[in-house]
Amino acid sequence: MKTLKIAIQKSGRLNEKSVELLKNCGLNFENYKSSLISPVSNFPLEILFLRDDDIPEYVQDGIADLGIVGENMIEETEVDVDYLQRLGFGKCTLKIAIPNNSPVETLADLGGKAIATSYPAILEKFLVKNNIKADVRMISGSVEISPGLGLSDAIFDIVSTGGTLKSNGLKPFADVMSSEAILIGNKNIENKDLIEELIARIQSVLRAKETKYVVLNVSKANLQQVIDLLPGVKSPSVVPLAEPDWVAVHTVIPERDFWDKISKLKQAGAQGIVVMPIEKIIV
Ligand code: ATP
Ligand code: ZN
Repeated sequence: MKTLKIAIQKSGRLNEKSVELLKNCGLNFENYKSSLISPVSNFPLEILFLRDDDIPEYVQDGIADLGIVGENMIEETEVDVDYLQRLGFGKCTLKIAIPNNSPVETLADLGGKAIATSYPAILEKFLVKNNIKADVRMISGSVEISPGLGLSDAIFDIVSTGGTLKSNGLKPFADVMSSEAILIGNKNIENKDLIEELIARIQSVLRAKETKYVVLNVSKANLQQVIDLLPGVKSPSVVPLAEPDWVAVHTVIPERDFWDKISKLKQAGAQGIVVMPIEKIIV
């Protein structure tokens, strides 16, 4: 069987979460910072550690079959690859930012202005769509210092908390794109079965992350009230306890309604609530 190759970031913001995701999929490999390739001992897969800038093209050209990279890099490099799965980490927004004292008030005011960025392709597309003719200046690092140096009137960059903007006298002006890490695949992958197996494992890890396993005790008198609060995957398991009028209820709860649900369960008579992380959910 041909060995698959997956490209992930060697070091940087996506490295740790990418490694964690693959390990949670049950893949055994050494994560040596110095090696470029790590074989997986229990799955026909090799992991390539690369700069994120190179991952989209490696996957497009078939040097790697799969890759984990920010959507922003895919958009910027304009490669032709399959989007296989959003991964829920590496979330960020790409914004145009302007100096606090900038005269720019509307998008049209950007006409004729110089905008510094490491993402010229994404910015050009945005400007064309909005019919703005501006001067896009490619800078590969520390874009945020360029207005202060008199090199540009605005910047276009990844913004997460806005702290870097603030400390450089800049303010967010327009959101252009939001991004998260995504699993991409080569368009002509031969080994579809293996890819499907890997995607199924990834999905089971992602689903498990979004849910908690909850066990609680409730008197039979309050059982229906508690069950009504738990739409769950299917109906919850109800287990008898030594105490004859009491039962234990086992169920899963989505992370996003967690605190709301827990307080309602308590009001409905639930006691001894135990919450546990879930490793995987296979459907
Ligand atoms: P490399 O050395 O691999 O080229 P890099 O310095 O270009 O790394 P990182 O800063 O590690 O890249 O960011 C990698 C990706 O992480 C970004 O392209 C983006 O998709 C995502 N990301 C998420 N949050 C942030 C953030 N706050 N700042 C920068 N990137 C972020
Ligand atoms: Zn990079």
